[in-house]
Amino acid sequence: MHPTIDVELENKEIVKRYRHLLRSCRRLLERGDKKKIREAFELAMVAHKGMRRKSGEPYIFHPLAVAQIATEEIGLGPTSVVCALLHDVVEDTHITLDDIKHQFGDKVAQIIDGLTKISTVFDTETSSLQAENFRKMLLTLSDDVRVILIKLADRLHNMRTLGSMSRKNQLKIASETKYIYAPLAHRLGLYAIKTELEDLALKYTEEEQFKFIADKLQETKTQRNRYIKQFTEPLIEELNLQGLKYEVKGRPKSIYSIYNKMKKQNIPFEEVYDLFAIRVIIDTPLDKEKSDCWKVYSIVTDHYRPNPDRLRDWVSTPKSNGYESLHTTVMGPQGRWVEVQIRTRRMDEIAEKGFAAHWKYKDNGAPTTNDLERWLAQVREILENPDSNALDFLDDFKLNLFAEEVFVFTPKGELRKLPANATALDFAFDIHTSVGSKCIGAKLNNKLVPINHKLSNGDQVEIITSNKQKPNEDWLSFVVTAKAKSKIKDFLKEEKKKIAEDGKEILERKFHHQKVEFNSENINHVLAFFKLKAALDLYYLIATEKIRKQDIDVVAILAHATEKKQANIAIGEPAAGKKKAGISELKEDTIIIGEDYDFDYSTAKCCNPIPGDDIFGFITVGEGIKIHRTNCPNAVGLMSNYGYRILKAKWKNSPIKSSQAFLAGVQIQGIDSVGIISTITDIISKELKVNMQSITVESHEGKFDGRIMLFIYDTSHLEELISKLKASNQLIQVSRIDVN
Ligand code: MN
Repeated sequence: MHPTIDVELENKEIVKRYRHLLRSCRRLLERGDKKKIREAFELAMVAHKGMRRKSGEPYIFHPLAVAQIATEEIGLGPTSVVCALLHDVVEDTHITLDDIKHQFGDKVAQIIDGLTKISTVFDTETSSLQAENFRKMLLTLSDDVRVILIKLADRLHNMRTLGSMSRKNQLKIASETKYIYAPLAHRLGLYAIKTELEDLALKYTEEEQFKFIADKLQETKTQRNRYIKQFTEPLIEELNLQGLKYEVKGRPKSIYSIYNKMKKQNIPFEEVYDLFAIRVIIDTPLDKEKSDCWKVYSIVTDHYRPNPDRLRDWVSTPKSNGYESLHTTVMGPQGRWVEVQIRTRRMDEIAEKGFAAHWKYKDNGAPTTNDLERWLAQVREILENPDSNALDFLDDFKLNLFAEEVFVFTPKGELRKLPANATALDFAFDIHTSVGSKCIGAKLNNKLVPINHKLSNGDQVEIITSNKQKPNEDWLSFVVTAKAKSKIKDFLKEEKKKIAEDGKEILERKFHHQKVEFNSENINHVLAFFKLKAALDLYYLIATEKIRKQDIDVVAILAHATEKKQANIAIGEPAAGKKKAGISELKEDTIIIGEDYDFDYSTAKCCNPIPGDDIFGFITVGEGIKIHRTNCPNAVGLMSNYGYRILKAKWKNSPIKSSQAFLAGVQIQGIDSVGIISTITDIISKELKVNMQSITVESHEGKFDGRIMLFIYDTSHLEELISKLKASNQLIQVSRIDVN
């Protein structure tokens, strides 16, 4: 299958790579470390014997490379080198974890176990498990953060050699890298690794775009270098003058960051203004770092005008991942904004390599196990800090799954998935309604928290309940799950009903006491008096003493209502000197709309009758006679319940146009399209010269629903308008509406 393999040549290469690895971590080795590394290497050799990678290379090249990255690019020590060499043996070969433990001790076994677990959950085929896997990965962290760092090294090497994988695996591994490993590297301050991972991921997920940008960068290189030279020349002159030791670099930004900028701002390559950044690295002793950085800043801004919004001082306050640098964006030649990064050699190495570079700047130059341990502790702190950092950390994970969900455990270790920002109370309702409604608090990883405490990934939650507890209105302000919300609302509604029963009894006694019949008509007067709509509300307010029973004087309320009724429907003689008719004079009790009467009448707002509609009159309490359409949605109720208050009504023959216009409603529904509103309003106001009172339009998922209230003369006028509107656009439906 493979071309002839020269075993001898391969073995030479293996030995060469092994020696290179030893040289790279020599400075970190203490007594006995070298022996352990040799043992690990030999065990890996034996275990992976005969195995080959997809590329055809001997498998041992991979663990060797991972160990190399771990120590050279991340700065890890001998334990990690041992673990990196052995990272695939338990999963892929006959070697067991016990074997490892026996030969290398608990620490190494524990890390290998973590790596194996991540592999088995992570590197499976189903991508839907990602969130779950991520959680497990985070939880393994608490064992040893080296698990994550070695996994990063493993992933980096796999990305570097992704070319020989199947297309399907390329896509899966590349997207995981983009969503999980690159942000993780960023979080840990491993910028060089982060950038490489992002670029590699882009290369495999967006092949064409990647190649396009890479080619463009190549094409524009000469021109860019010329510009960089022009930009830096006066700075270099001044730096020399001031006697600073420095290095000035003009480096293109990563392909991935250019790609992102083009996509986010929707601009072509040519319009990405910061294709490169200028970096000024100064060699300066620790105690002069800050002042020298600002000295350089002042040189730069003496020559170029800075954008005041784009100054970032991470020298005074380093980022939580250890990044230190001074950034400014200035106006360069030809009116182009140029980003300038100012930092010391030390800061630069830390920025590129993360904390791993710290030890190089120790006074005695030699790192100790303690330095490494301290660094690992720092990394762990970054990852585990329950406050802001940890939240930022999660935010870095762009995968929706992570941002929108939180994974927590029951005390028995059962996994529950809740939306982001879910609280302990949401969790309680998720378990069971009866648990939720009696929840008084929770134990989170054995610490007491209130019910509105927001849950984080990996929390183990135990709900504390009390039989005295019950849901209240306030709970709705912090729960986020639909289940909790609806259950709380249900409970509150039930509760309100129960409470209202008391209020009803109180009111009934009051009526009884004042010798007024407790019937719906009388209750309606009380409702109207308090401006309430539903009896339930009235009862509830009485029960909760929002309306005090001493404020309810039923007799007075009824008297008031009767008075108004009498004042408004003046039955009797027409007023002297006027030809007005009162209700008693109506011919056959028919009110003719358009005539003058000695009582008020007006059209009802619920159905807005217009001349031409079939109508009737209704004697109201306090508002004169209301004219409704016979097909008004309220008509049936009015006629069947208050037959004695109904009057026949008709329009006066041929109401004169332009003398009076009536309010009518039109509903227009259809597919949303550009300019549709103006087409409609043009027809109404310009073509038909109809006045509009109001227009409301709601647009939703490409459909729109418009309601227009307009002044119309009669039904034929309205029909004309409706048919004109219908004819204007095939995508709309037009109908008359009753309710305002
Ligand atoms: Mn591996």
